[in-house]
Amino acid sequence: MAKQTNGNKAMALIDEMKELEEKIRQLKIELGTLQADCVHEFVSNQLMKTCQKCLQSESIYY
Ligand SMILES: [Zn+2]
Repeated sequence: MAKQTNGNKAMALIDEMKELEEKIRQLKIELGTLQADCVHEFVSNQLMKTCQKCLQSESIYY
């Protein structure tokens, strides 16, 4: 890679962050779809219950 000024480096980092944020946004949608379609099998501890299949978790309030 060619030698970069700090400004170019910063811009490259910001561009990469934007790409990763977009990727995360897509993955959240994908996970949400997977969890929405799941027939949950929850396992509980004192604080929350977590589905063993899709890892969706919910807080438990008594
Ligand atoms: Zn589930």
